This record gives sequence, structure tokens and C-alpha cells, in this order.
Amino acid sequence: MKIKIIKCLTDNYSYIIFNEKTLSAAVIDPSEADPIINQIEQNKLVLKYIFNTHHHYDHVGGNQKLKEKYSCKVVGFEKDKHRIPDIDIGLKDNEKWKNELFECEIKHIPGHTSGHICIYIKKLNALFTGDTLFSLGCGRIFEGTYEEMYQSLNKLKKFPHDTKIYCGHEYTKKNSDFCLSIDKNNSNLVRKIEKINKNINNGMPTIPSILADELSCNIFLRSNNLEIQKHLGINSSDPIETFAKLRDLKDNF
Ligand code: ZN
Ligand code: FE
Repeated sequence: MKIKIIKCLTDNYSYIIFNEKTLSAAVIDPSEADPIINQIEQNKLVLKYIFNTHHHYDHVGGNQKLKEKYSCKVVGFEKDKHRIPDIDIGLKDNEKWKNELFECEIKHIPGHTSGHICIYIKKLNALFTGDTLFSLGCGRIFEGTYEEMYQSLNKLKKFPHDTKIYCGHEYTKKNSDFCLSIDKNNSNLVRKIEKINKNINNGMPTIPSILADELSCNIFLRSNNLEIQKHLGINSSDPIETFAKLRDLKDNF
């Protein structure tokens, strides 16, 4: 099994997961149909499933056209069935679901939207985090509270530390500038940014990131860090207050 990173729209990533022998394939968050169709045709894949992490147009935009063309099944969060276009299969929080390609596990991670999920494929050591966790950042809070988003990120922190993080957007460079503005004495962050810049200069995605790197470098996963709290002038030890402050600062960065 392999994962192909597909650039969509201006800064979105969709991911095609396929079996090299059977050529069966699934796609995560097809922002638009055409780049996916190109890959499917070029590699003679058979698209069986579309997975959506959440209902935003830049994650579901290709659903209808792909389903019409390939008769694949659309899979998403059960409680978001009303707004995921053309959905066939609704999965529950913590559900493990097996298909002909892989077994995956779904977790409900609200905050960016109320029905956001992540998709974990253990066999591939891969976690698809949509617009909740980005490399060195996190999603904007559109439909939830700071606390919900904070708890959702906490759920993601609990995956094995060598998990590969595949997120919905290439926002890493801008995120790294923000992290550095708050956490400039973090040598792990400085090293991570060197790697990121190398990828960007070579025209390569900065994705996947490794969870261990995010845990040590992504300030949104480090709201309990004393240095960061001190930098923000926060006296309480409440990590949610710190997280909220970081999220507000990033909205205006
Ligand atoms: Zn979104
Ligand atoms: Fe998005």
C-alpha cells in the first residue's frame, strides 16, 4: 500500500491510498475531481472510496464528480451526514472500519467544525488530520470552543509518536514563522524549520510530518509549556487559556 500526495486548489492536499497489486484505491478529502482523475487514470487505479474529514468545500469539492465517474462510496462522520455531499457510509466516533484496502479508525475531533474527524490507518502508520492539526499549526475554530479544539488536539497527541501526520493544507511555512515568533529558543523547532525550508526550496511538500516532531515543535501542542506561557505573559497554569491566546494571536498573524 502506498500514499500519493495530490496538490489541489491553491494549498490543499488530497491523498490517494492504493494497493500496488490490486490497484484498488481510496482518496482522502478530494478538494476537486480533476487532479484525482488524472492520477487514477495515469496509474490505472480503481477508486473504491472517498473519505472526508469534514464538510468544507475544499475537502469535499470532488465528491460528486468522482462518485459519478467511478461509482465509489463516500465515507464520513455519521453525525455530519446531512452536509457531506453524496455520503454513503457514516462512521461513529472511535469506530474501526475495515474495507478491502485497509482497516481504519475514526476519531471525532470537533473545533474547526462540529463534525470533524480524523482517520487513522495503523497499517500505514498514517493519521489524516484534515484541518484540525497542521504541521506546526492547528485549524481555525469555526464551530467549536477553544476547549473543544484543545481536547481534540489532545486526542491526536495520544497516537504513537512515530505516526505520520497527513493534513489538509500546505500551511507549514507560515505556521513555522508563527511558532518561531513565540518559541525561538526551541532548538527542535529551529532544526525542523531547516528541514521544512529544504523541502520548500526543492518544490517538495512538507507533509507528512512526524507526530514526535509536532509534539516538540508545534506550539499549539505545547500550551502547557512554561516558557511559552511566560512569553505570552500568562500567569495561570491553565493550558486552555494559553491555547486560546495562541489561537487568537495566530488569527491575526
Ligand atoms: Zn476546513
Ligand atoms: Fe480546508
